[in-house]
Amino acid sequence: MGKEKIKIGFDLDGVIIGKPPFMPKYLMEKLVRKRGHGLAYRYPESKIERRIRWLSHLPLFRPPIKKNIKLIHELYKSKNYELYVVSSRYSFLEGRTKEWFKFYRLSGLFKEIHINLKDEQPHIYKEKMIKKLKLNVFIDDDRLLLEYLKGKLLNVDLVFVEEQEKKFNNLK
Ligand SMILES: [Mg+2]
Repeated sequence: MGKEKIKIGFDLDGVIIGKPPFMPKYLMEKLVRKRGHGLAYRYPESKIERRIRWLSHLPLFRPPIKKNIKLIHELYKSKNYELYVVSSRYSFLEGRTKEWFKFYRLSGLFKEIHINLKDEQPHIYKEKMIKKLKLNVFIDDDRLLLEYLKGKLLNVDLVFVEEQEKKFNNLK
């Protein structure tokens, strides 16, 4: 055993996995976040809504975010890091998530891949998992969530990554 590796956790959607190209951001937010509740996310209560979300998570509709995957590959190769996925995807997306990693052949990069199998509130789930896995760094695209974690996880480097679409905003 050499020196201890640095443990880095990655969020999945918006960090590793891109959004479906045809779905406008406001619709995604509406489907996912509770209105006027800041951090709180909606659990899709109806069967049809879960079904729509499940369909929209077909691997083909969810391309990997290439520049971030490239960075993850480099971290993996350097052998100084242990890489984890901590996603708050709900339990009904477990199969889809496995399919995604298989389809793009990316699961080998990560020591462990975790999703929110007990359907807890995302910020509660992530706080718990980051502590449990003793991550040194956590990377996410949800600014509100990171703000919450900042007050709870004083020894973790929390890194915000800009969502993909934003970089196109200046081109108009
Ligand atoms: Mg995300």
